[in-house]
Amino acid sequence: MIPHNRLTFGLEEEEAVCRVVRSGYWAQGEQVSLLETRLAQRAGVEHAVGVGSGLAALRLSLLALGITSGDRVVVPAYSCVALANAVLAVGATPVPVDVRETDWNLDPIRVADLCRQVPVKAAIAVHLFGAPCPISPLTQTGLPVVEDCAHAFGLPGFGNQGDLAVTSLHATKLLGAGEGGGVMTPSQSLADCVRSWRDYTDKPPHPHRLNDKLTDLEAAIALCQLDRLSEFLERRARLAERYVEKLAGNGPFRLPAWSVDRVWYRFVVELDEAQVEQVAARMRQQGVQVAAPVEDWRPPDVPEAPVADRAYRTLVSLPLYPTLTLEEQDRVMKAFVAACNEGGERV
Ligand SMILES: *Cc1c(COP(=O)(O)O)cnc(C)c1O
Repeated sequence: MIPHNRLTFGLEEEEAVCRVVRSGYWAQGEQVSLLETRLAQRAGVEHAVGVGSGLAALRLSLLALGITSGDRVVVPAYSCVALANAVLAVGATPVPVDVRETDWNLDPIRVADLCRQVPVKAAIAVHLFGAPCPISPLTQTGLPVVEDCAHAFGLPGFGNQGDLAVTSLHATKLLGAGEGGGVMTPSQSLADCVRSWRDYTDKPPHPHRLNDKLTDLEAAIALCQLDRLSEFLERRARLAERYVEKLAGNGPFRLPAWSVDRVWYRFVVELDEAQVEQVAARMRQQGVQVAAPVEDWRPPDVPEAPVADRAYRTLVSLPLYPTLTLEEQDRVMKAFVAACNEGGERV
């Protein structure tokens, strides 16, 4: 079976973990500090703070911005439920705003429209699947922006445009460490705030003060992954380019536009809605696992978002990771083209 996702690691990660185990310092310490320095450098900002997860990074960013009970926070209507949960955790209301057809990213025009209708306190923008979400049209509305870089980190321009940027170190992300996250920001005071909220030791009781720390065991793995990030990104881009070249014109699907100015975290194809389940099942029979990239988390009473509605029903993510071999990729493409064209009506 060719899995939808597979981790990339080597002896470096094993040895790094062994060193931390033997050091006797397992919790937040020197490795976390080192990782923070490297994350800040890579994002091109002054400060980075290591935290326990991508969700914690979002939550602590909102706390640092002073988001509180009753505030509205814009999130893309097509996005992962972690964004909504972070907003709810600080007592605020997530307001899903529709995305653009071209790249499924938050539509800045709709955000500006919403801001004219109701008071909004902040926006979370995701560079979805690694395609750059334009941040400056959002900041021009006057909203503080949290730039979610869980799908796009490591190239210039990702992680230094928002008031704060976040990333995730979950095992299946660009940089895996099991669990973990980071907050990047040019602002000393926002960084201090995140640092202060990430733990509760020697501080007065408060419901927002949880334990959101990263461990040295996780940071040590993330540092190894960061050493190879450029290599990972190049390999991902090479595979994406190959997908675009070889799949173009071969079936009733819409491919993402090839670009070097993005991260290729996921290779996501749009199918006819009626075909999605069948294609996934046929590919599984051929030993290839594909996935719906995100599940719809929106309650029934949210504002209309027709583009997001469609995205939840029509998008399929093909295997894309540094350890996918060209032979495996050929098998994926063969199974995909066959599954899309087999016995069905062409769209
Ligand atoms: C994974 C992810 C998160 C949450 O990160 P966790 O580390 O899993 O909590 C947030 N935003 C995006 C875009 C993600 O892909």
